[in-house]
Amino acid sequence: MFRISDILMDIRYPDITMISFHVITIFPESVEPYADSSILKRAREKKLVKINFINPRDFTNDKHNSVDDAPYGGGPGMVIKIEPIYKAIQKIKKQIQQAKRYNKRSDTTIRTRTILFSTRGKLFTQKEAKRLAKYNHLILICGRYEGVDERVAKHIANEEISIGNYVLSGGELPALVLTEAVSRHIPGVLGKYESLEDIKGSYPVYTRPEIFKTWKVPKVLLSGNHEKIKEFRKN
Ligand code: SAH
Repeated sequence: MFRISDILMDIRYPDITMISFHVITIFPESVEPYADSSILKRAREKKLVKINFINPRDFTNDKHNSVDDAPYGGGPGMVIKIEPIYKAIQKIKKQIQQAKRYNKRSDTTIRTRTILFSTRGKLFTQKEAKRLAKYNHLILICGRYEGVDERVAKHIANEEISIGNYVLSGGELPALVLTEAVSRHIPGVLGKYESLEDIKGSYPVYTRPEIFKTWKVPKVLLSGNHEKIKEFRKN
C-alpha cells in the first residue's frame, strides 16, 4: 500500500541508496554466516548494504575482557555492561564522521539511529522496517543474558525494539530480522517481482509440478487469465 507520507519521505530523503548496519554483539560468529548468504550477500556485493559486526569484548581493558557483571540488587543471571557498548558506539560514530568527511557530505544528509533490542521495546513490523529504511546508519545493540544495563536504553539508544512477544537468548536474531526486513526496502535489493509484494500484499504461491500426489495447483493459476489470477490473489 502506498501512503502519501512515504512518498513525501522519499522526496525528502532521495539519497538512500545504501544502508550501513553496525551490529554490536558478543557473538558475531552466530550471525555472520546468515548475513553473508543469499539476498543479504547479494546486496552487500552490490554495495546497497553494509553489515559490520562489532564485538564489545574488543572494548574492554580488564584481565578477563568481561562484558557482563552481576546485577545490582541481586537476582539471577548477568547483565551486559554499559562501558564496552558505549566505547563500541563511540568508535562506530567516529568512523561514520570520517567517512562523511571523506565523502564530503554535509551534516544533514547523514542520518544515524541507535537501536537496542529489548523484550520491552516497540514491536517491529513492516511499517517500522520501512521507517528505518530512511536512515543511512543503523547501530544495532544486541543484548544477552538478563539484558543490558538500563542506562544504555536511557542515554545511548534512540529507541528499543522487540521483534515479538517471546523471549530469545540474545539480540542477534532480532538484528538479522531487522537487517533483512529493512534491506528489502532499498531499491535494487530485490528483483522486480519480489518488490511487488509490498504493493499487493502476500498471497499463496505454487510452482511445478502441477499435481503432486493428489494435490493440485488451483486451476485459475493455469488459466492465463490475468484478471482472474489477480482476483484469486486478492482473496
Ligand atoms: N529477562 C530478560 C531477558 C533478556 S533476553 C527480559 O525479560 O527482558 C536477552 C536479550 O535478548 C535481550 O536483552 C534482548 O537484547 C534480546 N531479546 C530477547 N528476546 C527478544 C525479542 N523478542 N525482541 C528483541 N530482542 C530480544
